[in-house]
Amino acid sequence: MNVLVTGGAGYIGSHTVVELLESGHEVVVVDNLCNGSEVALSRAEEITGRSLVFVRADIRDRVAMDAVFAEHHIDAVIHFAGLKAVGESVEKPLAYYENNVNGTLVLCQAMEAAGVRRIVFSSSATVYGSEAPVPYVETTSRGTTSNPYGTSKAMVEKMLEDLVAADSRWSVTLLRYFNPIGAHPSGKMGEDPLGIPNNLMPFIAQVAVGRRDELTIFGDDYPTRDGTCERDYLHVVDLAVGHLKALEARHESGVAIFNLGTGQGVSVLDMVDSFVRVNNVPVPYRVGPRRAGDLPAFWADATKARDELGWVAEKTLDDMMADTWRWQSANPKGYEN
Ligand code: NAD
Ligand code: UDP
Repeated sequence: MNVLVTGGAGYIGSHTVVELLESGHEVVVVDNLCNGSEVALSRAEEITGRSLVFVRADIRDRVAMDAVFAEHHIDAVIHFAGLKAVGESVEKPLAYYENNVNGTLVLCQAMEAAGVRRIVFSSSATVYGSEAPVPYVETTSRGTTSNPYGTSKAMVEKMLEDLVAADSRWSVTLLRYFNPIGAHPSGKMGEDPLGIPNNLMPFIAQVAVGRRDELTIFGDDYPTRDGTCERDYLHVVDLAVGHLKALEARHESGVAIFNLGTGQGVSVLDMVDSFVRVNNVPVPYRVGPRRAGDLPAFWADATKARDELGWVAEKTLDDMMADTWRWQSANPKGYEN
């Protein structure tokens, strides 16, 4: 298959590009590099021994997108491109709706014009909202999102559902990710956040490598096993394989929604303990106040992906920690090195 990967120079996109190339697919990446790196793409080529096509363009640029579809015989699109920082989305809501919602709109218009009607979209567990029962199941309706990032994901899901309702030739797969972490086992690719990381895993890795003094644990008085929040962390390579399975297993038109997670809740303290034990490096931390908006605990019911896509998250928490450290210690400044 010829697969267009939007946002393919980013964290999850670049790992998915590796899986696609290793499975024999041809890959065209469109990325504007606002949060991605061309080095990630050369590393993907190095790991797989195969080449890909890279087009530096913005998905909101209709002329550029039409040119991509005219030049390459695209069979399907995996759509990662977008902005993803929850806190920033509260401060700059218009930038999030412009990039995530309008970007997807322009992409779909270009797909429609080119007769390409197969899309796999990067959605998020955040669309379940704060009231959904845990574990989250795909049959639960989207809930009330609590920030513009989450709302933009819910809006795109709805837009794609409306597209299928209007034209049954479209095939839409909505993948709701839980908490992707880890890095490629080669140590050549991983997460490379700009500035101070907002997320737990890159923060732990940067403390371990000496770029930050200590981790602040946001609250230890939640109603959980050890008082810290629990999330469903999954290895980014498992997540990348999930995209491949979605592409290969779903040939029919219509909308299908899948949770991609392990089905296990892991606490912040579990994460720190596992990282220290597996990698034998210290991670100093202190407990601080709760972070506004954090939910105490949620994880996936991942049985639908297992039953219908034949996908299960195979890597362990220890694999996630070891691979994160292999990447971070070999590339202390990320792709800048
Ligand atoms: P990322 O920022 O590493 O990758 C996104 C890529 O898209 C970047 O390379 C960026 O340069 C590119 N991009 C952004 N706007 C663009 C535009 N208008 N045109 C072209 N390229 C553009 O993020 P990621 O962690 O790899 O996430 C990928 C997708 O998965 C995002 O849509 C994100 O919202 C979603 N997601 C991520 C997580 C997570 O925890 N990382 C969880 C749930 C969903
Ligand atoms: N967290 C933390 N310190 C940090 C970053 C995150 O204690 O520096 C906690 C956060 O409160 C949450 C968990 O780690 O309970 C996962 O946070 P992350 O931002 O990675 O994922 P999300 O909250 O978006 O699921």
